[in-house]
Amino acid sequence: MAEIEFWSPLQQKSLSLPAGEQQKYLRLLDTARTSTSVADQSGHHVRVALLTGAGQTFTGGNYEYALSDSFVHAESSALNNVLTQFGRVQLEALAYDVPPPITPTTFCIPCGRCLDILSAYASPDLAIVVGDSRRVSLTYLKDYLFADFANVPLDRVSPRGQDEAVLALKRGIDAYLPETHKDQVYGVALVGKDQIWRGSLYTNASYDAVTPILSAIQTWRNTLPLEPYDYSHFHLTKAVVASFQRPHIFYRDRQALTDLDELIRLKFPSLGPLPVDMLQVDSKTLRPLQAWRTNAAEWLPFPYTPSSFGMHDTLHQLLTQLT
Ligand SMILES: [Zn+2]
Repeated sequence: MAEIEFWSPLQQKSLSLPAGEQQKYLRLLDTARTSTSVADQSGHHVRVALLTGAGQTFTGGNYEYALSDSFVHAESSALNNVLTQFGRVQLEALAYDVPPPITPTTFCIPCGRCLDILSAYASPDLAIVVGDSRRVSLTYLKDYLFADFANVPLDRVSPRGQDEAVLALKRGIDAYLPETHKDQVYGVALVGKDQIWRGSLYTNASYDAVTPILSAIQTWRNTLPLEPYDYSHFHLTKAVVASFQRPHIFYRDRQALTDLDELIRLKFPSLGPLPVDMLQVDSKTLRPLQAWRTNAAEWLPFPYTPSSFGMHDTLHQLLTQLT
């Protein structure tokens, strides 16, 4: 049998794993390969397998139905299979079958939505195994998450952005949430040179949802000027997030902002990652209590964006459509 390389994309080096661990991950990859998928919308078949702490394996695939987000991602498909049979149990590893050769552009990672879902049901030590029978990358769920935000003095937060983010927080729909979850709602302001675009949590009775940053980005897109085009719309200076607790920003929202930031920086390469200020405000007085600062690169260690997958043509196409 050919030598199998286990590899760390974080450390960019080969890993030496005990033989038993190697076999366990390779068997899980074999199981992932047996999964089915329907990729009518994306054309990308994602086949995974989840290993529980008790040694059971469950497959999952992406199942796409329509030109919308009404489809099942492979990770949640496999997780649902576990939950259906056993409920919440310890999860040990998630394997993605990827057709060889493994290159940076075929490197498969959980999207923002799947990071939100996996974080809710798996420990940060969940192993994430991607590969084929020749090269296998090994990471852990914790490698994809980031919460170690630096504190900043309150007077460093843009007052305009702060007021608008608090207004967006108040406009968020929490009527469908249990009381225990209402303080997780947050509001967002995308601050431009001359304009601000707010984003609030939107949900309805069937739990269709638009998360705050996605909402703000839609507002930003929907107010793009017609000709003549001076690009001032593209000059975002920061994003401000406000919540009644330390903001817990969905990974799907982080991904959305990082995606937009990538597009803006393609147009203006001298720009750095968009700064993001996060505020905890008092639920009664709405006065800011604490602030943290991050940016659109730091908060998503493995960005799930077009350039991460080598989709440079798509990026240019997106930019053309915006302008
Ligand atoms: Zn996903």
